[in-house]
Amino acid sequence: MSNPVAQSVNLFGLDRAALEAFVHSHGEPAFRARQLMQWLYQKRVTSFEDMTDVSKSFRARLPGIADVRLPALEAAQLSADGTRKWVLRLESGGAIETVYIPEANRGTLCISSQVGCALDCAFCSTAQQGLQRNLTAAEIVSQVWFAIRTLVDELGKERPISNVVFMGMGEPLANYNQVITAIRLLQDDLGFGLSKRRVTVSTSGLVPFMDRLSADVDTALAVSLHAPNDALRNELVPINRKYPIADLIAACGRYTQRDRKMHIVYEYVMLDGVNDSDDNARELARLLRHMPAKVNLIPFNPFPQTRFRRSSPERIEAFANILRRNKLMVTTRRTRGDDIDAACGQLVGRVASRQQRRLSDIPVRVAP
Ligand code: SAH
Repeated sequence: MSNPVAQSVNLFGLDRAALEAFVHSHGEPAFRARQLMQWLYQKRVTSFEDMTDVSKSFRARLPGIADVRLPALEAAQLSADGTRKWVLRLESGGAIETVYIPEANRGTLCISSQVGCALDCAFCSTAQQGLQRNLTAAEIVSQVWFAIRTLVDELGKERPISNVVFMGMGEPLANYNQVITAIRLLQDDLGFGLSKRRVTVSTSGLVPFMDRLSADVDTALAVSLHAPNDALRNELVPINRKYPIADLIAACGRYTQRDRKMHIVYEYVMLDGVNDSDDNARELARLLRHMPAKVNLIPFNPFPQTRFRRSSPERIEAFANILRRNKLMVTTRRTRGDDIDAACGQLVGRVASRQQRRLSDIPVRVAP
């Protein structure tokens, strides 16, 4: 009878402390962990054989005790406006989507933290599939890894991604531990090396985890507010029944206390006739009056079977002007990538059949 094979450790997705513990447990010095990190995340080399500065003897042992597993790249799409979307197929069968939004002076990658989502926000298409499962830290950072690989290969840019936002599928704070590990890898100099405040967690307002987040890592925070009072927010963002606006705003106040220069971005989806009146704007301005805040108005992105419509550009402008008159900083999110269903709230973990294009059809080079 053969011995059961021990489950080998996936080194991809371990943060620095965990990787050091791993190499120690095999009698190796801490700097081996640093070497492994550089190969995995900076040189994007996944085969132990090719990690030439790791001692030959350890390299020979590694395949017996560890492996490097990433999701499979299933499809990549390129929008007319330069936005890109990748669909990654997970070992467990599910799929996740990642979106890259290039701008003049920065490149933002929007990543997913869960397959589906449990929170059931009324205007979000991801909600329709419910929560399938949490992503592992490996699956979360693999989105950044694949995106960088494509962009470096294709655009030849050294650092194509300056910002990472957890605004894809899922509620990041509902998958807390894996998201924290992922953030550590994103910000580690030997990992993806992103500036701390250029990693943004977006939450619908899981208040207890907002406090933990601020204690555990240093990241920017965006809060999906979408309504200025509890009656309306209870309908649009049902988690509000558990953590009402007063609790949420208090948690936001605590979050920004660590740093006088810090502000929170409040996301506000513009739904025609639902939350976009002048009164709503005045109420929102009163709510945020004493907060270090920026408001990001998001024109609603429709999806099949939704009961909502996008506010008109004139309405959005009038709403924004009321906020500005009340001394709030306001930006309106430009809709990007809607021709490939890559806009906010349109990520559902499948390749949209309408515009489905396989990898081979598009000018994105993908190494095997
Ligand atoms: N669960 C997290 C992050 C994912 S959604 C959160 O709630 O913040 C990222 C942003 O897109 C959120 O502000 C979300 O409310 C918004 N969004 C969701 N569906 C949308 C839609 N159909 N149109 C525009 N924005 C949407």
